[in-house]
Amino acid sequence: MLRQLARSRALQQRAEKFLPGGVDSPVRAFRAVGGDPPFVVRGEGAYLEDADGNRYLDYFGSWGPMILGHAFPAAVEAVREAAAHSASFGASTPAEADLAELVIEAFPSIEKLRFVSSGTEATMSAIRLARGFTGRKYVIKFEGCYHGHADGLLVKAGSGVATFGIPGSAGVPEEIAHFTLALPFNDLSAVEAAFAAHPGEIACIIVEPVIGNAGCIPPAAGYLQALREITSRDGALLIFDEVMTGFRIAFGGAQQLYGIRPDMTTLGKIIGGGLPCGAFGGRADIMNQLAPLGPVYQAGTLSGNPLAMAAGIATVGHLRENQKQIYPQLEERSAAVAEGIAAEAAKAGVSIVTNRIGSMFTWFFTQAPVTDFTTAAASDTQRFAAFHRGMLDRGIWLPPSQFEAAFLSTAHTAGHVQETIRAAQEVFGVIAT
Ligand code: PLP
Repeated sequence: MLRQLARSRALQQRAEKFLPGGVDSPVRAFRAVGGDPPFVVRGEGAYLEDADGNRYLDYFGSWGPMILGHAFPAAVEAVREAAAHSASFGASTPAEADLAELVIEAFPSIEKLRFVSSGTEATMSAIRLARGFTGRKYVIKFEGCYHGHADGLLVKAGSGVATFGIPGSAGVPEEIAHFTLALPFNDLSAVEAAFAAHPGEIACIIVEPVIGNAGCIPPAAGYLQALREITSRDGALLIFDEVMTGFRIAFGGAQQLYGIRPDMTTLGKIIGGGLPCGAFGGRADIMNQLAPLGPVYQAGTLSGNPLAMAAGIATVGHLRENQKQIYPQLEERSAAVAEGIAAEAAKAGVSIVTNRIGSMFTWFFTQAPVTDFTTAAASDTQRFAAFHRGMLDRGIWLPPSQFEAAFLSTAHTAGHVQETIRAAQEVFGVIAT
């Protein structure tokens, strides 16, 4: 049953000569699950193909961006056309306002926004702006949330930081981490206590409104609303990091789904249709503090890049036009695969907890409900690794860590879902002991 991965193995060895760990982002390594990471040569729809000619059903979608599947024809065409007119100008283009208008229509809390080239830049810049606007230093984040790799946000972070058990990154001075208050998610008393301990000193709360980077962890009923009330009362800003949830769990992201109006929002992933792109935006009085209008500096040579704008407009435009069909279909198929696999696990006597919001989901190999990072970390990561390897062998590529969410795209069919459930049935038969 084991797939032939000889070419991928050779490519990994070559990559390791030039790139630390052979990767440009640690989450791509298979250290947490073992085995050889396939080297991808192309993608189409719901499928990836590796250098050995193996095909996989893709359940990580470039970690979120590929909601329309790979090589979505309108996005390919838009990028091709834009590239023919030059990849970058370093001057303003009409497409930036076009994509901004689409985003602002989807997210009514955003009155103005600025494009950047990654989610990390979006959150880093949003925090600087929150501090500049409020004149305060402290930032609240939550354990297991990942907001990119800016120094002050790499404190008790999720994603690869959690996967590799790094408590806080080397290279982040204590003096910088000191201003980040990392609290347990879904625990309002911890938030109240932090505000009581630092009255008038907290610039903002930044939160993944549905955590994706510790695996999928939804907010408890009323939790986001309470964060809104506490920040408003104190004069701190509420930042929703919707880099993952934006255009994913609803067209207007978590803020649409839960009916909350944050002061600022960060976006990435889907907004660029798979090209490097992020954005941060929010209330106009806050955004107008940015240079050239205000004193908070933020810039980027490739910000609003024409190819990224073209892919973003094609992707977000398609979602906008077809949202009434797309989101219910994603919901239905995601429920089918998430619950179908949970049912197979139960039949095989394997304990898993399934968390899902829309097309974002995680099977935690644990028994108790997963509501924060501590309960996620109770998962049996060895068993997850065995599940991952078994699924990969059967042509199903899940994110290679217990602490990451899986995603569905519009290219996943009901047939793909059935194929995935059948593969899981076999794998549970092997790993149940
Ligand atoms: N914020 C969230 C919620 C994310 O999931 C990520 C990436 O996974 C980031 C920020 C950082 O984005 P990027 O990897 O584009 O820098």
